[in-house]
Amino acid sequence: MKRSFLKISLSLLAAAALGFGGAAQAQDKGTIGISMPTKSSARWIADGDNMVKVFKEKGYKTDLQYADDDIPNQLAQVENMITKGAKVLVIAAIDGTTLGKALQNAADRGIKVIAYDRLIRGSKNVDYYTTFDNFQVGVLQAGSIVDKLGLKQGKGPFNIELFGGSPDDNNAFFFYDGAMSVLKPYIDSGKLVVRSKQFGMDKVGTLRWDGAVAQARMDNLLSAFYGKDRVDAVLSPYDGLSIGILSSLKGVGYCTAQQPCPVVTGQDAEIPSVKSILRGEQYSTVFKDTRNLAAVTANLVDAVLAGKKPEINDTKTYNNGVKVVPSYLLKPVLVDASNWHHVLIDSGYYKESQVK
Ligand code: BGC
Repeated sequence: MKRSFLKISLSLLAAAALGFGGAAQAQDKGTIGISMPTKSSARWIADGDNMVKVFKEKGYKTDLQYADDDIPNQLAQVENMITKGAKVLVIAAIDGTTLGKALQNAADRGIKVIAYDRLIRGSKNVDYYTTFDNFQVGVLQAGSIVDKLGLKQGKGPFNIELFGGSPDDNNAFFFYDGAMSVLKPYIDSGKLVVRSKQFGMDKVGTLRWDGAVAQARMDNLLSAFYGKDRVDAVLSPYDGLSIGILSSLKGVGYCTAQQPCPVVTGQDAEIPSVKSILRGEQYSTVFKDTRNLAAVTANLVDAVLAGKKPEINDTKTYNNGVKVVPSYLLKPVLVDASNWHHVLIDSGYYKESQVK
């Protein structure tokens, strides 16, 4: 009798220490400031939520802020995190060059800075970078165009138009360069024709990754260069742009039995794009598992704060203009109608009911 009472009280005590939630929230290892760019894209919401979860499991508090894609807003939020005594800042920058002063303040107080997903440029006060292999994202996007059009089998020529991401986001250049590393030989040989002749991030970039801007540019391209001719493929670096581009195409009669959609790529496996792939409209997307990025980032922060050497797997690629930032790169995965279920549903990232 006595024994079982003791047992129950001990387990109650243990539960109280764990905060009843089961997770080890007993220790308070300090607050991690998490600065995300915007809630307008689902991926950043998932990134924020995943990070709050994994940091909590490791005994940290979190201060998660979204900046509405407004640069002064992000700067103010980061300054505020510093003032409130964050131990580490994890930042996905809107514009990778605008945070220099705040990062100097952070460094002066011994606060470590992790660039999350997007490299922060022009500052020595960026300690680590966690991201996906951004060049490979572009390689996968372009590879899906090459495969679908049968370019390796010698088919063509085909018409293609190119879209890039936001020119203030370092990633956009990696996506574009990765894609062009695959497409350029076909463009040079005339198997792919860019009728608009619009090449290079200065011509094809899309400020703030804005789908409406991409839609308007596609409208212009179609009316100026595709009166009679068909556009067969569109390189799009991000699902939000792909949906805008597809609306434009549908507006002039594409995506019908007589006039199928061109091959349109994407990135992030956002739900509207997965649905579009299942309807046979968008052709592919690139999945980046934000659960893994959150986990890698939290492990890295934990190691840094414990004074240990964190795990990194790239020390060459990401020069931010001042230094090469030690990085951890995760692998992106191409998703199309053939593997969406395996990659997105079987992995538990989405429930089937969310995309059907
Ligand atoms: C991210 C992409 C995302 C894009 C637009 C990039 O920096 O790496 O995953 O599609 O921003 O939000």
